[in-house]
Amino acid sequence: MMEAKLNELKQRLMEASDLSYAGALLSWDQTTYMPPGGAEARGRQLALLGKLAHERATDPAIGKLLDALQSYGESLPYDSDDAGLIRAARRQYERDTRVPAQFIAQLYEHGAHSYQVWTAARPNNDFAAVRDNLQKTLDLSRKMADFFPGYQHLADPLIDFADYGMKAESVRELFTELREQLVPIVRAITAQPVADDSFVKQHFPKEGQLAFGEKIIRDYGFDFERGRQDLTHHPFMTKFSIGDVRITTRIQENDITDSLFSTLHEAGHAMYEQGINPAYEGTSLDGGTSAGVHESQSRLWENIVGRSRAFWEHYYPQLQAAFPGKLDNVPLDKFYRAINKVQRSLIRTDADEVTYNLHVMIRFDFELQLLEGTLEVRDLPEAWHERYDKDLGVTAPNDSDGVLQDVHWYVGIIGGSFQGYTLGNILSAQFYDTALKAHPAIPDEIGRGEFSTLHGWLRENIYQHGSKFTAPELVERVTGSPLTIEPYIRYLRGKYAELYQM
Ligand code: ZN
Repeated sequence: MMEAKLNELKQRLMEASDLSYAGALLSWDQTTYMPPGGAEARGRQLALLGKLAHERATDPAIGKLLDALQSYGESLPYDSDDAGLIRAARRQYERDTRVPAQFIAQLYEHGAHSYQVWTAARPNNDFAAVRDNLQKTLDLSRKMADFFPGYQHLADPLIDFADYGMKAESVRELFTELREQLVPIVRAITAQPVADDSFVKQHFPKEGQLAFGEKIIRDYGFDFERGRQDLTHHPFMTKFSIGDVRITTRIQENDITDSLFSTLHEAGHAMYEQGINPAYEGTSLDGGTSAGVHESQSRLWENIVGRSRAFWEHYYPQLQAAFPGKLDNVPLDKFYRAINKVQRSLIRTDADEVTYNLHVMIRFDFELQLLEGTLEVRDLPEAWHERYDKDLGVTAPNDSDGVLQDVHWYVGIIGGSFQGYTLGNILSAQFYDTALKAHPAIPDEIGRGEFSTLHGWLRENIYQHGSKFTAPELVERVTGSPLTIEPYIRYLRGKYAELYQM
């Protein structure tokens, strides 16, 4: 009886999920191969699929099934798959049913249109072109929050979508605590000469860059039988099933680091999705559990592993060999310093590990202020320049490298878009710390280009569970404590004390 109901629930969730993944495929195509002429129809198609997926996901039949399954779910052990599925599906259903399908369609259509305008506006330094769209995004974001009354801050429901369990206030407190620790480290490092990285900015042909990045992620354990990499403007990961997880990158031929580290980053996201228990396909458990936990997986492979000295002891000779004549006279130590160069800079995605979170905090504060109405969209470019000057001591020469640099507000909502990056940095160190306690030989293995112990630990403890546990539950289960900045600060201090005289 319960089994039949559970099967029907899974069947219905699968249909909604298939429609969403079909939309994700159109969206992937839009940002990789679609010619500009496809934009208008694509926006319409995405809106329709989004609406259909939403209608399926909010079908009252799902609500009835969930009601019927409620006590059965509670009678099961907490960490059983069925109990987890019923909990996650209930949370998802209650969230989705509050938002009208028509509103979702509007959001998708606006997002597709706004993205297209942004792709032209950014290279043209044309904030005026996106201003009205951004205002509409803000209005829609406020409307979205209002479907979830009872919040303390307008951003709370939007933060909760991405990072369940967090609120504007709790993120603010965490960021304040982190900032107090980070600012002195940034100050100590930036008082010293900036590392020379001129040699990473030579000409490195595109094909060689792609091949080198793909070789490493294959070693990491990214499964090319169940994934692929393509080119785009703004790298991202997406998926259409657990067996088809896509990553994208962009190549700058005058910089070996840009594509390489974005590939390692996106592969970290992708391995999380590839590692989810296949039995969860198409259910509410099929997907990483939160933005912060997702980002912890990308940052772990990009930074903690990919920017470590041990890693480059193994890969640097291969990099030198892949681009003859470019790095022959650059010793490993010099290269290691270059890829860990710390400086106050303009672009979040290019920022080093130490200053990165300061970029995130600026955006987080702006999201709150925009939602509150204490900052107007038209004043955003100016506010951006002022805040960068104050927090990072740099001024962008234009808006392209200012308020136009990140895609988020031009394709999604304003609110909840950025805190996950910093939560991810913090968690990457907390998870890695725990992995090292279980397997102290991991750094030696990294030095030999072997990643199976680390990858296996992550799959076992994090990946396979998908969304079975909420982020706070998962962190507690895996590390034995709630989210804490301590391992992250210890990691930064240890690494950069060695690189700089601190
Ligand atoms: Zn990421």
